[in-house]
Amino acid sequence: MRLLVVEDDPDLARQIATALRGAGYVVDVAHDGEEGHYLGDSEPYDAVVLDLGLPGLDGMTVLARWRKAGRTMPVLVLTARDQWSEKVAGFDAGADDYVAKPFYMEEVLARVRALLRRAAGHASSDLECGPLRVDTKAARVTVRDNPVKLTAQEYRLLAYLMHHQGRVVSRTELVEHLYDQDFDRDSNTIEVFVGRLRKKLGAALIHTVRGLGYRLAAPGDET
Ligand code: CA
Repeated sequence: MRLLVVEDDPDLARQIATALRGAGYVVDVAHDGEEGHYLGDSEPYDAVVLDLGLPGLDGMTVLARWRKAGRTMPVLVLTARDQWSEKVAGFDAGADDYVAKPFYMEEVLARVRALLRRAAGHASSDLECGPLRVDTKAARVTVRDNPVKLTAQEYRLLAYLMHHQGRVVSRTELVEHLYDQDFDRDSNTIEVFVGRLRKKLGAALIHTVRGLGYRLAAPGDET
């Protein structure tokens, strides 16, 4: 899952990005509204953490422009404390949730998790597919209740497929959602990681759809 953080306070931006990366996400950071708007408009993020008080273009305008342009990614807004009018305006502009400053990082992580799973249509942070279970809260993976050890990159790939299970996901889409903007992207590496995941999880879960990509589905649910 690839996230965008738009926050002008450099310390806070770094703290949020570090916490999100620690939770297994890939994160791009923008420090002003112009850059944030540009990135959110041109890159396929799975969710955005957006500060409202930004230099140049303010967060509310950034959000309103994204929505007007048809960008539907979930957006968690950071508001100043007790600014209830700001919260209302934020929701009207298209925010999906908000956190008031100052906040505990755990709350941001929990809200981002909730936004991601709701966007993918899941009710719980435990995602299941046949014998496979991914606890997105603890980044823990089990097959038939046996823990499976994955590298960070393998986990990111699996988590993305789990959030979109049953649907064919192209290699291009995976590259776009698993690497940040500075990464030297190479879609061939995806194949390598899929191979490793199959080895660790069993070959029956990740199906190759020729010429299109991959689909995660429980055995016996191959249609
Ligand atoms: Ca600010």
